[in-house]
Amino acid sequence: MNKLRYAVGIDLGGTFVKYALVSEVGDILLDGKLPIGGRASKDDTLEAIKSSIQMVMEKAKYEAVDVVGIGIGSPGIVCDGVVVGGADNLIAWENIDLLSIFSKEFNLPVLADNDANVMGLGEVAFGSAKDSTDVIFLTVGTGIGGAIVADGKLYGGYKNRGAEMGHVTIDHKGIECNCGGRGCLEAYASTTALIEQYAKLSGKDVEAIDGHYIVEKFHEGEKEAVQCMQEHTDYLGHGIAGFINTFAPQKVVIGGGISEAGQFYIDLIKKSAFSYVMPDCAKYTDVVGATLGNNAGCLGAASLIFKNID
Ligand SMILES: [Zn+2]
Repeated sequence: MNKLRYAVGIDLGGTFVKYALVSEVGDILLDGKLPIGGRASKDDTLEAIKSSIQMVMEKAKYEAVDVVGIGIGSPGIVCDGVVVGGADNLIAWENIDLLSIFSKEFNLPVLADNDANVMGLGEVAFGSAKDSTDVIFLTVGTGIGGAIVADGKLYGGYKNRGAEMGHVTIDHKGIECNCGGRGCLEAYASTTALIEQYAKLSGKDVEAIDGHYIVEKFHEGEKEAVQCMQEHTDYLGHGIAGFINTFAPQKVVIGGGISEAGQFYIDLIKKSAFSYVMPDCAKYTDVVGATLGNNAGCLGAASLIFKNID
């Protein structure tokens, strides 16, 4: 008989609900995703989450495994199981009491956290930071999200409103950021910023460029691509050096699509970060790539349950 504990992992994004049935050792018995469409209402989104959980519970019943809870990662600020707000890519996604709604519906413990936080926790539970207790996670994409894991637990500050790692200032008179601030790491080091900078330097159409294209040109040794990639990784290194000096993590984990470009990408960031850190703070720190890819959200959501429910 299978004595492992299992959990439902839900990863809510702007266009899909991803779901998985995950064991406490990180095996996935079922995974999939349901589209929610760009104009889904709050009720549509809740309905898609409910259907996703139902599918996972049916699989669990079929496999006769013991589901001990439901973990949910959601965009926005999530405090005590409630999405307070701040999820700009979902319509009316605020004051959503995920805990009450789904614990009543399925009669199971429900834990929820911010999507980037959950991804970071997933890397600590099952990915590249396994066996580490103190970790900084960054996801580099259209923006920069992050998570702080301190002593094995997510740290989000008072009422879980912090850990916005993309919005530390790296240039106090710098360019405006989507957050309303100025000179944020995200404004310089997101994939969006990399693409815009490369388009400007190369004179190419920004619409025809993505991260993969720049990586390809970088490997070909194209001058503009090399320059942009070096600047991009140097900005990230600057930000990460600050995080290392503040948190002295065992691992800094870099996720997001572009982190899968290859080890060269991680090596460039690591070299930059280590050239700026206080050596004593970085004594036990390594910079590594994320390993869970698209499954990070669901695995991390499930690990919320395994780490917090006995
Ligand atoms: Zn910002």
